[in-house]
Amino acid sequence: MSTFSSQSYFYTQEAAGIPQPGQYHIQPHSRPVVSYYHPEGVGNYHYGERHPMKPARLTLTNALVTGYGLHKQMDCFLNPRPATQTELEEYHDHDYIEFLKRVYPEAPGVEDGPKLHNFGEDCPVFDGLYEFVSKYAGASLHGARRLSQGVTDIAINWSGGLHHAKRGEASGFCYINDINLAILELLRYHARVLYVDIDIHHGDGVELAFWNTDRVMTVSFHKYNGDFFPGTGKLEDNGGGRGKHFCLNVPLQDGIDDDSYVTLFKSIMEPTITSFRPSSIVLQCGADSLGCDRLGAFNLSIPAHGECVRFIKAFGLPLLVLGGGGYTIRNVSRCWTNETAVLLGATLPKALPSTPFDQFFSPDYALYPKLDGKVPNKNTRASLEHIRISIREKLRYLNGAPSVQMQEVPPDLAGWLASEVRNADEMEEDEKGNGAAGEARNNSSRRARNEFFDGDSDVERETHPMPAPIVPPATTPRGRGRGRGRGRGRGRGTLIARDVTSDDSDDDTDTTPAPPTRARGRGRGRGRGRGRGRWANRDLDKGAEKEQASSPATSAPSIYIPQMFDMLTGKPTSL
Ligand SMILES: [Zn+2]
Repeated sequence: MSTFSSQSYFYTQEAAGIPQPGQYHIQPHSRPVVSYYHPEGVGNYHYGERHPMKPARLTLTNALVTGYGLHKQMDCFLNPRPATQTELEEYHDHDYIEFLKRVYPEAPGVEDGPKLHNFGEDCPVFDGLYEFVSKYAGASLHGARRLSQGVTDIAINWSGGLHHAKRGEASGFCYINDINLAILELLRYHARVLYVDIDIHHGDGVELAFWNTDRVMTVSFHKYNGDFFPGTGKLEDNGGGRGKHFCLNVPLQDGIDDDSYVTLFKSIMEPTITSFRPSSIVLQCGADSLGCDRLGAFNLSIPAHGECVRFIKAFGLPLLVLGGGGYTIRNVSRCWTNETAVLLGATLPKALPSTPFDQFFSPDYALYPKLDGKVPNKNTRASLEHIRISIREKLRYLNGAPSVQMQEVPPDLAGWLASEVRNADEMEEDEKGNGAAGEARNNSSRRARNEFFDGDSDVERETHPMPAPIVPPATTPRGRGRGRGRGRGRGRGTLIARDVTSDDSDDDTDTTPAPPTRARGRGRGRGRGRGRGRWANRDLDKGAEKEQASSPATSAPSIYIPQMFDMLTGKPTSL
C-alpha cells in the first residue's frame, strides 16, 4: 500500500536530515497512516463553572470517536508524554513557564486577579493548570515528531490548537501555544510549513510568532469587525520583513453560510498551497466557527467544516490536525468526530453511537444537527469577492516558494526565530540606509517585552538570561508597529459578557444536567470503556521520560478526580 510516507521526500529526509522539496501528492487512491493523540485525563480539567471553555468536550469527542470504532483504524496514543519545561521554552519565556508551574488557585493575590501574564477572567488559574497545558502541548509535539519521522501521514490532537497564547502571556483561554511548538518542531525537518486556521477567532498567536519568517505561512479565516476578540487579523496584515506576504488574513462577518465559506476557502487555499509549496501543513480546526456556537456567530454546518479539512487533506502533505475553540460542546464533539472520519476516509452512520454521554445529544442523537440560520448573513457576494480577489493579488507576490538551505537540523529553534527577527530588522535598516537603527531596535524589543510586566518584575526580567523576543520590530511601545496587540481588555470583555448574559437555549448550561437516560434502546453498548483494543501508550520517546520524571512539574499533586464526574460542574456524580 502506498502511503504519504512512501514518498521520496521522506527517504531523502531520513537519509540526510535535510528537507527536500519533492513529490507532494500521494497516489490518488492511497490511504494515509493516521495517528490520534488523546492524553488521558485531558478532559477532566475545569476552567470554572461559568467559563465557556470546557475541556470535557475532549472526553465527549473521544467517546464518539471510540463509539464509532474509528480508533481501530488509527495508531492511537492514549498517553503521549507531557511536554517538558525545556520543550515549552522552545517558544515561551522561561519566567512565564515558571509562573505557570508555580501558580495555584489559592496563591496570594490570585483572588484579586493575577494580572501577571494576562491571567484573569479569560485565563483563570485552575487546579492542574500546568499538567493540563503540558499534556496538550506534549500531544501536539508528539504528533509533529512522528510526522517528521515519516512514521505517520496525519496526526490528530483535538486537545491542541490553542492559538492565542503568546510567548510570555496567556490569552483567549490559551496558556501554551502548542501550535507554535509543533511548527518549530516541524521546521527542524521541513523547509516550509503552512498553517491554516478555521477557528472563528483570528489565529493571532501563531501569526505573531512567525510574522517575520518566510518559512511559515499563516492563513487565518475568522470573524473580524475590529471589536471581536482578539481584534486583529485585517485583510491588509500580511507579515513583515522577510515574512512579508507570507501571512494571509480572511476577515469575515457574522452569519457566513456553508457555500460561501467553503467556496472561498477552496479558492484561497488551492493557490496558496500551489504557490507556497509547503512540505507540511498544520490545520487548526476550531469548532466555534460552527453555527449555534456559544461564542461564535457563523452558520457553518459540521459537513461544511469537515469539507475544509477534507480539502486540505487532499493535497497529500504531512498534516498535523489540531482542535481549538468550540463552546457548544455537543457540537464540538460531533464536529471533531466527523473530521476524524474525514481524515481516515471513513463514512459514518448519521446516527450517533451510544456512549455514556447520550444525554448531551438528545433528542436527535444525530451526527449532523441543523446548525444554520440563527444569525443573519452579513457577508455579501460583493464583499466575499473583494476578499477573494484581494488575496489572489497578494499571492502573486510570493513569486514561487522561497528556497531554503538547511545544512543541518537547527539545534536551537528559539535562537533561530530570534535570528529571523534580527534579519528582518536588518533588512529594514538596509532599506532605510540608517546605520543607527540598531539602537532603536534594541529599545523597541525591550519595550515590547516589558508590556507583559508591571512594576518590579521588569527588573528581574531584564537580568534573566533568556532568548531574544519574537516580536515584530515595534515603533511604539504597545502598538507593535502594525496596530497589533489591541483588544486585550475589550476583547476579553466581549467573550465574558456573552457568557454571562446569554440566554440562548442552545448554550451548554452550567447547571447540573439530568442523570443520563439510556432511553434510546439501541442496545449497542459500544464506546463505554477506554484503553481497549489498540489503545495503548506507544510513546517511542522513552528516553525523554527521564527528563520529565525529574521535572518538578511531575511532583505536583494530581488534582483532577479520576472518576465519573459531572461534565459541566466537575462535581463527582453517580453517573
Ligand atoms: Zn475561537
